[in-house]
Amino acid sequence: MTNSLFMRIQSRFPADLSKVLIETASGETYSYGDADNASARIAGLLTALGARKGDRVAVQVDKSPEALFLYLGCIRAGLVYLPLNTAYQAGELAYFMGNAAPIIFVCQPHREPEVSAIAKAQGVAKVLTLGTTGEGTLIDQAIAFPNDFAPVACADDDLAAILYTSGTTGKPKGAMMTQTNLWSNAATLEKLWGFNSEDVLLHALPIFHTHGLFIACHCVMLSGAKMFFLPKFDREQVMALLPRSTVMMGVPTFYVRLLSEDDFDTNVTSNMRLFISGSAPLLPETFVAFKERTGKALLERYGMTEMGMATSNPLNAERIVHTVGPALPDVDIRVCDENGDVLGTNEIGVLEARGPNVFAGYWQMPEKTAEEFRDDGFFITGDIAKIDEKGYVHIVGRAKDLVISGGFNVYPKEIETVIDEMDGVIESAVIGVAHPDFGEAVVAVIVRNDDSLSEDDVIGAIKGQLANFKVPKRVFFLSELPRNAMGKVQKNILREDYKTIFSN
Ligand code: AMP
Repeated sequence: MTNSLFMRIQSRFPADLSKVLIETASGETYSYGDADNASARIAGLLTALGARKGDRVAVQVDKSPEALFLYLGCIRAGLVYLPLNTAYQAGELAYFMGNAAPIIFVCQPHREPEVSAIAKAQGVAKVLTLGTTGEGTLIDQAIAFPNDFAPVACADDDLAAILYTSGTTGKPKGAMMTQTNLWSNAATLEKLWGFNSEDVLLHALPIFHTHGLFIACHCVMLSGAKMFFLPKFDREQVMALLPRSTVMMGVPTFYVRLLSEDDFDTNVTSNMRLFISGSAPLLPETFVAFKERTGKALLERYGMTEMGMATSNPLNAERIVHTVGPALPDVDIRVCDENGDVLGTNEIGVLEARGPNVFAGYWQMPEKTAEEFRDDGFFITGDIAKIDEKGYVHIVGRAKDLVISGGFNVYPKEIETVIDEMDGVIESAVIGVAHPDFGEAVVAVIVRNDDSLSEDDVIGAIKGQLANFKVPKRVFFLSELPRNAMGKVQKNILREDYKTIFSN
């Protein structure tokens, strides 16, 4: 790349820089010119503080326009942006600082004393603050710097960002994203999803994650579009802004919540051209209910931190329920068995992907990186999937979720699908729990809307439909499933909660 990621994004800004890029929940607007100037000032400040190309800048702040400008300032100065979930606590921050060795850490103002102490112990040179309305030392100090800053030239494989993956086991791993990884995915998706300068994206996702930061913001900035930037998903705000929006990107729970609003209907959605869903599996009944209520088919796509997006249902052809669509034009995918042998159509195995979007490896973890790549460059995603005769991918579950009961492999998704179809069930999560006879036993955790539904009813109904080794040994009912900020069911929490039920 002769141009850096920043230069390429900037070259797509509208000629009229007064065009609005961001409108906040309170109606404040920020233009493309504001983003350009703010990123220059921030790049100037970070450079004056000693940050040089390739240095990491760790950022744990609330979502705000200034937080996005900080991202742009970092890539403008050739720095490596490292966003962190605001939920991370002291011990986790010490790990990230020790592992990534950032030169600067930007934190929420109220956490400055705590973060400064950790930063000192970990040898991080400088701590700055940024609050929800732009207050704090970052913007205060950046004001003194000029509105222009010549973007630092970067090679294709220079890093642009490191994103730590949540990981269900072991320490979080820092996925290294290059200039090309982020640019190629952004350019592909902006085209594939038909973004244009008239679009208004309803942005209610967090921006410490690939979905809200790269997928959403890049599509907007590459097309000169505008976005409503909400601190988080708020039903009332979203309902009020949908009539003025054209595209929404969300996790499945956003759409479930919208469907629970009686007045969520075509009056609210008539201006919308596209609803995109991802980051967690979309239940078929959500897809169906959404279509019935709005007349629109949710566009489900699939990706992960390590590769941005890899597959997507199409914009202008059939969107098939319970699939995540075919591979993106510049991404190769295949399904393999555990030895790496490629499986045929509709055969279930582990999904692998290769393309310009696939990350450069895990920061400071060459062995982990080597474990997850094949010799021919395919990344082993760890998602269990099949590819059908139309080339559409069906995600069947996570390899790590696989339950081995009495020597048999059990894919939780298969059992969850049967349970979810039962009357009285809203949703379910199936996990493996240590069992003295079977090694692991299948356990179902269910959210019901009919209190008369019992453990025996569920077990009895599954018995007729699935092989005995797949039938849950126990069934538990919860009022809701534990989920993380991206809407993913946290099966690790369920496994922990139920780990001793067969040992007493
Ligand atoms: P993350 O790295 O946090 O983005 O999580 C990536 C994981 O989310 C993938 O490996 C999948 O297990 C899951 N995921 C993302 N999109 C989908 C989808 N549309 N359907 C099912 N699982 C998904």
